[in-house]
Amino acid sequence: MPVAGGALRPLLLVDGGSASGGAWSSLFEEVGYSVTRVSTVAEAIQLTMDTVFCGALVELAVDGAAGLVAHLTAEDVAVPCVVLDEARSVRWLEAGASDVVAPTASIQELSLRVGRCIETAERLKTLTRERDQLRALSTTDGLTQLANHRAFQDRLREEFRRAQRYDDPLTLVLMDVDHFKRVNDTHGHLAGDEVLRQVAEALRSAVRETDFVARYGGEEFGVLLPKTPLAGALTVAERISRLVRGLRVGRDGVIRVTASFGIAGLPGRGLTSPDQLLKAADDALYRSKREGRNKISLFQPTLAVVQGG
Ligand code: GH3
Ligand code: MG
Ligand code: MG
Repeated sequence: MPVAGGALRPLLLVDGGSASGGAWSSLFEEVGYSVTRVSTVAEAIQLTMDTVFCGALVELAVDGAAGLVAHLTAEDVAVPCVVLDEARSVRWLEAGASDVVAPTASIQELSLRVGRCIETAERLKTLTRERDQLRALSTTDGLTQLANHRAFQDRLREEFRRAQRYDDPLTLVLMDVDHFKRVNDTHGHLAGDEVLRQVAEALRSAVRETDFVARYGGEEFGVLLPKTPLAGALTVAERISRLVRGLRVGRDGVIRVTASFGIAGLPGRGLTSPDQLLKAADDALYRSKREGRNKISLFQPTLAVVQGG
């Protein structure tokens, strides 16, 4: 029975030119597949380069059938594959085939088995896609599309371990928008949200691909700079500070903001855990706030303000 209202499902039939090939082909067409029939492995592989098949039926008699099964079921091709083998050898399952059916099986059994393999593969694909979407949602901040607090914590730990293992420098820049409450109070939360989006964009544009930017909290952001010593991080923070000061948000661009920064990095005295690095950058950030905001402070055992606003 053809698939009601649905498009024909593309099926690859590799039959080695056997007498039954034509019969299988027309029988599968009758039950809702559009069958592409080839007789060599080379033709089959060529076809998979530009056609997405929902499934493949491979006859044992085809020369190089094992290699073809391996190709079809590899992660990047991922075509569920049913092998026709009188002996129903389990080696096909070991090679990655979804099922092995005797060529003498009824068309009803064959189409049921092929259909079930395709459905299982499609369900797995859907679940994998949904899992990836959920994973992305759980690590992304909805307002700015930057990494969120959880992703930042994970990455901080990962980069800290890596930096320690390879004795590499690693710098953390924390940034907090100054007097942000006033922006909300004066211009409303929607305008405040727009400021945060533009600040996020400025941050994104100011760092390299190997750096990591996250929205740490409300109007606070974290930037991890692997393999970057304090001097390099200072340059990055100055660039971000300039971009943030240059933003003109809201009607007629009346909303302008500044930000305060705290920088701490490895190697650093007493910084032996990710939390200590975070605390050090936070201490430096609060130093910038205390010193009047719109400033960048480096964490040192004795803190120092290095740039005025
Ligand atoms: P400071 O210079 O000391 O950092 O002052 P501040 O006003 O920036 O800091 P405070 O912690 O007093 O206020 C932070 C404000 O950020 C208050 C909060 O409502 C606002 N905020 C946090 N998250 C969001 C958000 O997602 N959207 C908007 N519009 N505002 C937010
Ligand atoms: Mg603030
Ligand atoms: Mg804050």
